[in-house]
Amino acid sequence: MKRHILEFLPNELNKYLIQINEKKYRTKQVLNWIYANKTLNFHNMSTLPESLREILTRDLDNYLPQILKVDISSDGTKKYLLSLADDKRIEMVLIPREEKNTLCISSQVGCAHGCNFCATASLGLIRNLKVYEILSQVFLAMMELKQKKLTNIVFMGMGEPLDNLENVIKSVKILQHEQCFKFSPRRITISTCGIIPKLKELTDSGLKIKLAVSLNSAIQEKREKIMPSCKKYPLPELKKALLNFRKGTPYRITFEYVLIKDFNMGKEDVKTLLKFLGDISCKLNVIVWNEVESLPYKAPTENEIENFINSMKKLSFAVTFRKSRGEDINAACGQLAAKV
Ligand code: SF4
Repeated sequence: MKRHILEFLPNELNKYLIQINEKKYRTKQVLNWIYANKTLNFHNMSTLPESLREILTRDLDNYLPQILKVDISSDGTKKYLLSLADDKRIEMVLIPREEKNTLCISSQVGCAHGCNFCATASLGLIRNLKVYEILSQVFLAMMELKQKKLTNIVFMGMGEPLDNLENVIKSVKILQHEQCFKFSPRRITISTCGIIPKLKELTDSGLKIKLAVSLNSAIQEKREKIMPSCKKYPLPELKKALLNFRKGTPYRITFEYVLIKDFNMGKEDVKTLLKFLGDISCKLNVIVWNEVESLPYKAPTENEIENFINSMKKLSFAVTFRKSRGEDINAACGQLAAKV
């Protein structure tokens, strides 16, 4: 199988070009075509000799997923349905917000975790995305944005990024490399439901990124009820793994807490949450549940949301309330299911 051009770190591309008897400076030229001129078509790389363009076309893959459908929300959020080379479908979401353009990308086709507030879970795990399939989403978004800058990337689309850790780590290295996509570590967030062994691997890898944890309850039994795979990951152990991760990063961990009416907003929920978060240097991001047709949960009222946020004011760190974007096109948190 041909290797995809987006999967090369500069030193790997250099090695390949030397193997085919090319000069070192060709690496810079090829990278410049890809990342500055946004082309993956080897025939368009006019500063390369014809013979090299032929060899690259013969040796390497440059396939980009096809955009099958774009849904545009009244708030400007765009949801893209993409078809991969094997005809599997994924979604990515582009969220414009004042000066920021954030891209929410997928790391898997489907997901194994069965969180019962999440539409992706209904697909089950189909397969991991390859490195180039993760990066293609970023590449396509940059082409879509034209002159506007893509500022932030969040691994919060379909899939659990830590279940595809090797490919996610390689993708992030290419995203951050100064000769490739050039994203600063603080502009990339990986969101997880808290797979403890993988968190340890991520910590050991030394990768610099921001981490978000989908918490949703600090009461083990309740968390398991909506996130069944968390049975294997007791909250005290999760906390230990997160404190360890935090030692190696300048960035505070973000905890995502989806507010579900009559489920995780009562006095006991608040008390346990305050205790769980109290000694972690973190941020709490409160999101209102996005109703999904097939699920029984309801969104809280404005009043209930306000009461919950006020009860969190006892915490010394930032509590942010985020209204999900793209709800009207099923592009908000937990709504991605790659339906045509
Ligand atoms: S919330 Fe995340 S981990 Fe849970 S099923 Fe959905 S995609 Fe998977």
